[in-house]
Amino acid sequence: MSETQQILHLALPSPLRRRFDYLPPKDGENDSYLPGQRFRVPFGSRTLVGLLLEVSDHSDYPLAKLRHAEACLDLQPAVPPHLLKIGLWAASYYQHPVGDALCSFLPVLLRKGEKAEFAHQKLWVASVDQLPENGRSAPKQQQLFAELKAHPQGLSNDAITALGFSSGVIRALKEKQLVHQISRETAPPHSHQTDNLLLESPLVLNDEQASAVDAVASKLGQFQTFLLQGVTGSGKTEVYLQLIEKVLQRGRQALVLVPEIGLTPQTVGRFRQRFSVPVAVLHSGLNDRERLDAWLQAERGDASILIGTRSALLTPMQSPGIIIVDEEHDGSFKQQEGFRYSARDMAVIRARAESVPVVLGTATPSIESYYNAQLQRYHWLQIKQRAGNAKPPAFELLDIRQQPLEDGLSPPLLMEVRQQLEQGNQVLVFLNRRGFAPTLMCHDCGWQADCPQCDAHMTLHRQPAHLHCHHCDYQAPISLRCVKCGCTNLNPVGAGTERTEEALKRYFPKTDIIRIDRDSTRRKEAMKKLLDRVHDGGPCILVGTQMLAKGHHFPKVTLVAILDADAGLFSADFRGMEKMSQLILQVAGRSGRADRPGRVLMQTLHADHPRLRCLIDEGYNTFAEQELEDRKNAQLPPFIHLALIRAEAVAQGRAEAFLQMVRVMCEGLGINGVELLGPMPSPMEKRAGRYRAQLLLQSHDRRSLHQLCSQLTLMLEANKQAKKVRWSVDIDPLDMF
Ligand code: ADP
Ligand code: ZN
Ligand code: ZN
Repeated sequence: MSETQQILHLALPSPLRRRFDYLPPKDGENDSYLPGQRFRVPFGSRTLVGLLLEVSDHSDYPLAKLRHAEACLDLQPAVPPHLLKIGLWAASYYQHPVGDALCSFLPVLLRKGEKAEFAHQKLWVASVDQLPENGRSAPKQQQLFAELKAHPQGLSNDAITALGFSSGVIRALKEKQLVHQISRETAPPHSHQTDNLLLESPLVLNDEQASAVDAVASKLGQFQTFLLQGVTGSGKTEVYLQLIEKVLQRGRQALVLVPEIGLTPQTVGRFRQRFSVPVAVLHSGLNDRERLDAWLQAERGDASILIGTRSALLTPMQSPGIIIVDEEHDGSFKQQEGFRYSARDMAVIRARAESVPVVLGTATPSIESYYNAQLQRYHWLQIKQRAGNAKPPAFELLDIRQQPLEDGLSPPLLMEVRQQLEQGNQVLVFLNRRGFAPTLMCHDCGWQADCPQCDAHMTLHRQPAHLHCHHCDYQAPISLRCVKCGCTNLNPVGAGTERTEEALKRYFPKTDIIRIDRDSTRRKEAMKKLLDRVHDGGPCILVGTQMLAKGHHFPKVTLVAILDADAGLFSADFRGMEKMSQLILQVAGRSGRADRPGRVLMQTLHADHPRLRCLIDEGYNTFAEQELEDRKNAQLPPFIHLALIRAEAVAQGRAEAFLQMVRVMCEGLGINGVELLGPMPSPMEKRAGRYRAQLLLQSHDRRSLHQLCSQLTLMLEANKQAKKVRWSVDIDPLDMF
């Protein structure tokens, strides 16, 4: 070995919070390597694919103990340097093992060591210059051979069939060894054009939209965070589109993040309809190959626009010009397991690293973003008017304390629905609970069908009939007898979307009732088919969960009926109110988006609840101000920073005992200014057969909190007790359960 031995410091997919040192591949001792390149390495008896973080001439381990990497898999870094830096920052900020965090930046196929190339296609090419004079070929064979000569890049089987040749013709040529197959990377179409970008003309912006576009456009090429707060139907998408147009004119790419359920064909359609450039889409419904292709399109700059859910933020882009986070308040931007990052917060970090503006768009900002805008950390853009002729919907609280409810529907609500239908309008009925009923209860003794693995009731489903735990997915046939008293007097209690749908069918037998929830949209294309029925049809009733709340534009909907406005009013989660308000305004925003005025009817048992009143009488900003005031008084985020340590174990009490030990460890570290709350059992203690507990860490000083968490995680990694439970650290937790 030479004196200046190269040491490769790699991030490997491992739960350990450290780098792993290797010697370069044996046949590449003197090559130079770049951080971000992938390496295949031996690891125990397995091989793993890791990312190079750094090359140095020093290892903390004896050189003799280091193994050689097997191979370098990339010519260029798979994760470019600036993104690698963001990955390292995020691993450290979210207290997650670096190798595992960086894995999230790679599509699955690259994690498995596949080439960073588009799908390969088998193509036929001619093997000889011309057909031999002696071995006379049939005319069809001569024609096909001529075609292959005319297409030196090769022709696929499909292309050959399309040209009118049967498969026998190519086979005959092959047997004579006149043609052979090659495998070639087939890149999808790409474009670097900056003129003829538009397929349709942009709308004429109103003043508020125009000043939003101007404000952001004046910062292209620089970092700046914008909070674009536009009421529902204010035309935020048009603002995005016109901004993207300016970005494309500069030869740059746009990255658009949307919530999990907001990525409908309609959303993507609006971008594809406007621009002639390739639009790549990344979401959870893609297979591994499709994911890699979209990733490559963005990385090579072939796609000018990348639209995707959370993880799209981690995709390299050749020349990004803007990042847009639509519905920034949405919870799906925070990953709830493993690498618990917030794509919204990381969008700001990435925009800074790429020197581009980032636009956080929403009608109902998260309290955190609202606060940042108030403090002028974010540039606040507001659109208070709806676009076009649309007027804001009128809200009405419907006090159901004295009302007889049939399947959760009150008589005045039904009357209103009927009137709207008679006028040829569409109605949206919102209930954020799927299934037929949330519980099955014994009328005689009060027994309820519970999940054997969770502290939760089983939801009753009728289509198909079964009991289903929505927390662990456990399923069982519907009980016919009470387990406790043996009687057969079992009744569904409460209503979910299936029950509402059934009831509405009874009341409105001639009306098309369209249910949209996770169950009705499970099959591929199902959502699109249901939405087509809404868009093409006349009067109808849409029944659904929050899947209906986001992004959809239903011009014919004039009435939104919210069956249970109280869900969330008395939540144990300090964000309960915030989430409820956002959901109510989002759903309400589906109403009256075109020429016909919209109404929103909300059934409630708390018609005089001051916050509910405030929300509908004074609007979201007044609500947000009050919420901030409350959070300040109670010392909750954004006035304080949180880290939640969760643990779970099969044996009851073990997770809590473990966290008690963690608490003592924290105290032993002697870091000032971090308050420890707990341990306590999680609000739903038992879930999927495990008992769960949590310890909350809070501090005014982010640095102290960070210091404590990083020392603690290193200690826990080496701790024997910690191996007997599942534990995790959640920085800036969104869900406290
Ligand atoms: P948001 O996302 O803010 O809820 P959308 O972007 O879906 O709103 O826009 C709502 C409707 O208003 C869409 O049909 C859109 O085409 C229309 N729209 C947007 N901007 C304008 C405008 N400047 N003039 C006329 N119609 C507009
Ligand atoms: Zn369960
Ligand atoms: Zn009973």
